[in-house]
Amino acid sequence: MGKLDNKTALITGASRGIGRAVAERMGREGALVAVHYAENRDAAEQTIATITGAGGRAFPVQAELGVPGDVDTLFERFQAGLKEHGGGTELHIVVNNAGVMGGVSPEELTPEAFDRLVAVNAKAPLFIVQRALTMMPDGGRIINISSGLTRFANPQEVAYAMTKAAIEMIGLHYARHLGSRRITVNSVAPGITNNGSPVFDIPEAVEQMSQLNAFGQVADPTDVGDVVAFLASDDARWITGAFIDASGGTLLG
Ligand code: NAP
Repeated sequence: MGKLDNKTALITGASRGIGRAVAERMGREGALVAVHYAENRDAAEQTIATITGAGGRAFPVQAELGVPGDVDTLFERFQAGLKEHGGGTELHIVVNNAGVMGGVSPEELTPEAFDRLVAVNAKAPLFIVQRALTMMPDGGRIINISSGLTRFANPQEVAYAMTKAAIEMIGLHYARHLGSRRITVNSVAPGITNNGSPVFDIPEAVEQMSQLNAFGQVADPTDVGDVVAFLASDDARWITGAFIDASGGTLLG
């Protein structure tokens, strides 16, 4: 018996990093997992192979977010995949995880780069929630991945942090809106998490990043994925509208 038996979960950006860890954990808990990705089909297939190898069920959904028609494309393909995998017509769990960072100085930030960050990190998640709700039964779960950068400063990521502050508002307002249906809506804010990007191969950089949290090491994606899976479970039924810091106690002082 898994904690998510008979549930269907759509995880955006599940080909790599935190999204992959969420997908794999939810797959182990018995959910049918839609592994969404943008371009990296091989990585998405690896996530699926891990889930199915452990006896779970999963299928890929490709859709570029942040472009016109993105949410329509995502749901058309998700529903086709659901049909193909005998998944019924309901969507119980949505995790808005796909996101992009900025990485430019405040002086170099352009309106175009800002618009792109907003489109991928804030606009797409909002309309994914709107669309998901047409398929979500009472007791569903919506989890939005924010960032510790809504609580501590990194000037190179001012625009990114603004989009993460925006995604947190989905939790606040929709939690109230959906309470009568027992649908919970929460935000999870990771700190620095090893998503396999090249910087995590540089020992000096990892050493420096490790000093920022209470545990003295960068997070593994599973450290965050397990928190997300908990929020999706029945054990978390009384948590809604919450901001969950999953940063390992970053910059506690
Ligand atoms: P990641 O390893 O960079 O992977 C990003 C995922 O999102 C991939 O699956 C990618 O698909 C997908 N994606 C990216 N842009 C997309 C687009 N325009 N349309 C559709 N899919 C797109 O991610 P991560 O570092 O694990 O981060 C996951 C979430 O946690 C993000 O929201 C991020 O902001 C947040 N976060 C991360 C950290 C951290 O230190 N890693 C810290 C705080 C918050 P492809 O594989 O096809 O490219």
